Amino acid sequence: MRLQGKTAVITGAGSGIGRASCLLFAQEGANVVAADINEESAAATAEACQAAGGAAIYVRTDVSRAEDCAQMIRRAEAHFGALHVLFNNAGIMLSEDGDAMATEEDVWEMTMAVNLKGVWLGCKYGIPALRRAGGGSIINTASFVALLGAATPQLAYTASKGGVLAMTRELAVIHARENIRVNALCPGPLRTELLMKFLNTEEKKQRRLVHIPMGRFGEAEEMAQAALYLASDESSFVTGTEFVVDGGITAAYVTPE
Ligand code: NAD
Repeated sequence: MRLQGKTAVITGAGSGIGRASCLLFAQEGANVVAADINEESAAATAEACQAAGGAAIYVRTDVSRAEDCAQMIRRAEAHFGALHVLFNNAGIMLSEDGDAMATEEDVWEMTMAVNLKGVWLGCKYGIPALRRAGGGSIINTASFVALLGAATPQLAYTASKGGVLAMTRELAVIHARENIRVNALCPGPLRTELLMKFLNTEEKKQRRLVHIPMGRFGEAEEMAQAALYLASDESSFVTGTEFVVDGGITAAYVTPE
């Protein structure tokens, strides 16, 4: 098992990438702390991990609030003894997010609070715990939109993910000698709640699929597999990367018919 004896905190654990990662990490022997603002869905994820024979607890956590993040890390250490993996994955994409003119201040601020400040707060409280454990792995979920511009704008979302990428690089450099690795996961378009809410007609889905060389959306489970590699010792010399898992979207100029 690839995460035997390790404890992992995963945010956004109630759905999509977060839930799939909790299940996979638990299967691979990790003690899982499922953190989500939605308590019910976090609890359901922890139960599913337990039902599959894993060790898991849940913590209601709003990653944009410092006290919640501090509590999330405290619960992990109190329950499982140490923290080895921190997966800062929670994120939102608001429907009112648009171009520079259309995006309102509250939409900008909320997006930044969850997607960018939330990653920083996870690190603020998580890094001391990783130090106490003698090191570990941090994975921050960014996006392919941190690397490419889109003509269908979601300016606040894109800017927040660019921030996650830049912050990840700097964290990686700062903590490299402490045996703490920090990598960003950059998913392509996925068939999860977050995106399917927007691409809610067949026409909208097809318009997005045109850009993906593999011709399909990614699955949360495929992101979980990438996160597992970054979490495990198999990636022991990997830090500061933008780990792109995107069906080829960032490689394409023109995609095949
Ligand atoms: P999802 O909507 O299925 O899951 C996101 C989870 O985050 C939900 O359970 C939600 O309750 C939780 N959450 C929202 N706000 C929170 C907060 N303040 N504190 C704690 N939890 C909160 O989405 P997903 O597709 O699994 O997305 C996970 C991450 O992947 C996000 O950071 C997203 O931006 C990123 N991403 C998604 C895609 C995609 O196409 N779906 C592509 C690239 C990147």
